[in-house]
Amino acid sequence: MNLELKTYPCSVCGSAESRKLYDVKGFYIVQCAVCGFVFVNPRIPDSDLYKMYSDHYFTSASEGYGYKDYELTSNLRIKTFEKWISDIEPYLSKTRGAVLDVGCASGYFLELMRTGGWEVEAIELDKDMIAKVKEKNIPVSERPFEEFTSSKKYKLITMFDVLEHIPDLKSAFAKFHDLLDEDGIVALITPDFSSAQRKLFGKKWFQYKPQEHIQYFTPETLSRAIKPYGLQVIHTSASGQYADTGFLLDRLSRYNFKLLRLIAGAAAGLFGLKNKFWYLDTGSLFAVIKKK
Ligand SMILES: [Zn+2]
Repeated sequence: MNLELKTYPCSVCGSAESRKLYDVKGFYIVQCAVCGFVFVNPRIPDSDLYKMYSDHYFTSASEGYGYKDYELTSNLRIKTFEKWISDIEPYLSKTRGAVLDVGCASGYFLELMRTGGWEVEAIELDKDMIAKVKEKNIPVSERPFEEFTSSKKYKLITMFDVLEHIPDLKSAFAKFHDLLDEDGIVALITPDFSSAQRKLFGKKWFQYKPQEHIQYFTPETLSRAIKPYGLQVIHTSASGQYADTGFLLDRLSRYNFKLLRLIAGAAAGLFGLKNKFWYLDTGSLFAVIKKK
């Protein structure tokens, strides 16, 4: 993919002043000089980003972005969603109502919620995934969240690994406020720039995917960013996902732990761990947001 990059102001405060932190894969990770928010600049222009997300994104890893094959590990994805639902539950309205999952992929999370008695709705841009969601009889909007309109109010809006992809954060935050019911919540998972993993791995942190992960929050910058929109963060904690041994070994290779990978690979073979799975910290932030 050979695209012209474009320079944008900070999506949180609008300032054009920033300082460079890292050079990652030909992109700069920068920090806003005014509000401290971390983002990629210059970056792939909005229109090209949306093209990327709509065209075989979930099988596009060979292009340097997206997933190798999202459906290949569907059992782990479902396990991960079950874990995330148990994380969300304490903050969720006791009265069931409408749930909107933004960037729903093939809709596993919404299937689980529907079984739990919730009225489910999706937003997805990828054509392959939209077809799957429709087969599951889940209503799906095929336009970006920033353009989404509804007369409905939602008890839950979810963004799992989505916020870091959104170019126009101000519109997204205003949309949260418009769409949330009085006792509704937004539950999101996004890379945490203040995580121990980011600090440990520096510019090698696997969450640096500067083509598509263009915004990097911390609990503090998220809290400040949403405040002007009548929203508040009511909970933050670390988050992860279920992964199999192969994924774990792949991650070790990516961090250049060659020796460790070799040992772990041999051990996995010896002890029959190949098909085992683990809940791995991904240096992600789980945040729950409410109206003020
Ligand atoms: Zn800023």
